[in-house]
Amino acid sequence: MGQEVLVLNSDYEPLNICNMRRAVLLVFLGKVDVLHEDGALLRTVRNEYHSPSVVRLKSHIKRPRPKLKLSRRSIFARDNYTCQYCGYRSNDLTVDHIVPKRLGGETSWDNLVCCCKKCNCQKGDKTLSQVGFTLEREPRRPKYVPFISLTKFISGARNEVWRDYLPVFDGFARRHATEDAEAAVAARR
Ligand SMILES: [Zn+2]
Repeated sequence: MGQEVLVLNSDYEPLNICNMRRAVLLVFLGKVDVLHEDGALLRTVRNEYHSPSVVRLKSHIKRPRPKLKLSRRSIFARDNYTCQYCGYRSNDLTVDHIVPKRLGGETSWDNLVCCCKKCNCQKGDKTLSQVGFTLEREPRRPKYVPFISLTKFISGARNEVWRDYLPVFDGFARRHATEDAEAAVAARR
């Protein structure tokens, strides 16, 4: 019963990742529909069931919009782990103040971007025009806030079936899943 189950709201919004015990209880209480099963069998005294992998609540749960925290990780996720100056993609990035702090640049969604170390070195505390950099896109506060934590989201994106239900940061999730697979292959060599 160690596996995890993705729980969707009735409108398919990802709500949570719960353990199998809880998911099975929700199924038996008739609170959820099972959208996907995985191969494992669960046995009860009378029956056998395939264990659920994705379930959807029958009635809609209203939830407050969570506050989006400004953090290095959330900047990385918003910018798809891509340097906003040169387009370099990596897991080893920094965050740059577009308008440098010494010129009054704020630590805010629209003044922070994902930046590779090379570009960060070059830019230092200069302005964009001083170094001739342009932005890949205007940084903004992301509209959508995933209800489930980013960590859970990332681990969820590794699950082939779940991935389709995790539309947030879509490219990001897929890329991470691919990179993980590639890293696993490389590690085996
Ligand atoms: Zn760069």
